[in-house]
Amino acid sequence: MRVLFLFLDGIGLGENNPETNPFARAQMPHLNELLDGRSLLRDATPFHGEHASLLAIDPAVGVNGLPQSATGQAMLMTGINIPAELGYHYGPKPNPAVAAYLKEATLFSRFVKEEKKAALLNAYPPRYFDGIDSGKRLYSSIPLSVINAGLPLFKHDDLFAGRALSADFTGQGWRTMLGFREAPVMAPPHAGRKLGALAKEYDFALFEYWASDYAGHKQEMDNAIGLMETFDEVLGGLVDVWSDGLILVTSDHGNMEDLSTRRHTAADVPALVIGQRATRAEFTRELRSLTDIAPAIWNAVMRE
Ligand SMILES: [Zn+2]
Repeated sequence: MRVLFLFLDGIGLGENNPETNPFARAQMPHLNELLDGRSLLRDATPFHGEHASLLAIDPAVGVNGLPQSATGQAMLMTGINIPAELGYHYGPKPNPAVAAYLKEATLFSRFVKEEKKAALLNAYPPRYFDGIDSGKRLYSSIPLSVINAGLPLFKHDDLFAGRALSADFTGQGWRTMLGFREAPVMAPPHAGRKLGALAKEYDFALFEYWASDYAGHKQEMDNAIGLMETFDEVLGGLVDVWSDGLILVTSDHGNMEDLSTRRHTAADVPALVIGQRATRAEFTRELRSLTDIAPAIWNAVMRE
């Protein structure tokens, strides 16, 4: 079965507090519809509805300290309790100890070995690769998993040719932040339909979105609300074109759901699963912590 994994960095399940939590304020009608009127809040879980399920997932995995991106994403990619093995959470970028887990054990490596089609759907700009080549930038855990599996990271020509999607969904950032004045720009619902169309070409597709973690660190309420309202429109377009298979939306740690702190939070993260009721029941049966995501994805994709 096909799985699209929509990874949102730094999204936890918070309290219904409009002072601190953008999810208590953002207008997200598509998400509300999937959740029978609920929002992405702690008290909305667990939920199993007609089209979607929402569970609270533990990112702390029994290890002291606040969850971090390198170990969190590495757990999502491998299913291994890396913080427990190392004795700490680590991030944002993987150190050598974390990177050592991202060779053969990741979903990408394992799917490639099984001749399943897998891809990371983000397009990365030239300056990203310049940073890697010059040693100024380290791969984060997800792209490192992709290149270690021998898969390409998509580039600007893939974006222009419609084979990949901009990290901000719409492509506007390529024009305003990156200086590509001819970059294709799509309205959010169109970007969601595009994401669905691209994912249909693969058994396992992943898209990573990190502006959410950034907004959390910056404690920007209006920006955070805007990002999630855009995301909701993307989700609406995506669900419109999605027919079979599962969509998973989850995160590596909390952050943006509590703007009273600029640090990550200890909150559980959401696992939003969209698809047929029976396949969702199977997929969500063992979902309790970040280590349970990779096995669930593996089982779903390998099932014919
Ligand atoms: Zn962060």
